[in-house]
Amino acid sequence: MDLGLSKRIALVCGASKGIGYACAEEFAREGASVAIVARDANSVAAAAAKLGKHGANIFPIIADLSTSEGTAATVAKVIEHYGRVDVLVTNTGGPTPGPALSHDWAAWTKAIELLLRSAVELTRALVPGMQERKWGRVIGITSIAVKKPVASLVLSNSLRAGVTGYYRTLANEIGIDGVTVNTVLPGYVATERLEQLAEATAKRTGATRDSITDSYKEGTPVGRVGTPAEIAAVVAFLASEKASFVTGQAILVDGGRSGTLF
Ligand code: NAD
Repeated sequence: MDLGLSKRIALVCGASKGIGYACAEEFAREGASVAIVARDANSVAAAAAKLGKHGANIFPIIADLSTSEGTAATVAKVIEHYGRVDVLVTNTGGPTPGPALSHDWAAWTKAIELLLRSAVELTRALVPGMQERKWGRVIGITSIAVKKPVASLVLSNSLRAGVTGYYRTLANEIGIDGVTVNTVLPGYVATERLEQLAEATAKRTGATRDSITDSYKEGTPVGRVGTPAEIAAVVAFLASEKASFVTGQAILVDGGRSGTLF
């Protein structure tokens, strides 16, 4: 299937590893030009070098997207380099784990800046250009937590809902301009983030790391955790020409784990 991405310019956030990297790789394979963002210069350079092997045009950006300076610098650099962004994938690392009463307001603010402000600021800066050109795709990476709260992840459970509300509102407003807006909700996916969560759960519950990892598989109807590429495949479809009638959706890619009817 030709996804029609070969002349498109994508900005993929949090793309030095994990789900973001896999999204950038999928776009690179499709022949899109891809700007990737993450904080660590060495990791970004390594990711850009690997992605370059697909023959695509890759533009590395080093920025902390949890800061206003970082989002502003990202927007300035990508526009200076490519002149526009057709596909925006908002994504960062996940917030600190913890139950509902555990975090002070400073921790909440940090998570708001990481998850909600980064998505809102990048979107507000880059969507007007998409509207003018009458074509664009915005895809927010959120979490299965949007459908069903995950134990001891109150910051994620709360803020992913905020991101979903923001993007659902935006989808209603800009569909008329040829810009679609969707979110993708990963279930358990084999990345560094999942290892960190397993470690935190082991500490909290006293269970072994292995039993926690097994529970991720056992509670998932397909009997395993997902791969970053399996999330990226859905993101690439949503970015494609083929997905032009899909907007305002929160799409689970979770091996059936959520167990919800809708
Ligand atoms: P990850 O931690 O493996 O990778 C995160 C990427 O974002 C890395 O490239 C990191 O360098 C970058 N990053 C982190 N903070 C950043 C910042 N402030 N500015 C710029 N770049 C930053 O995470 P992942 O597993 O790929 O997950 C991606 C998102 O999906 C996270 O928000 C995570 O919580 C969510 N999620 C993951 C899973 C899972 O099982 N892996 C499940 C549900 C939701």
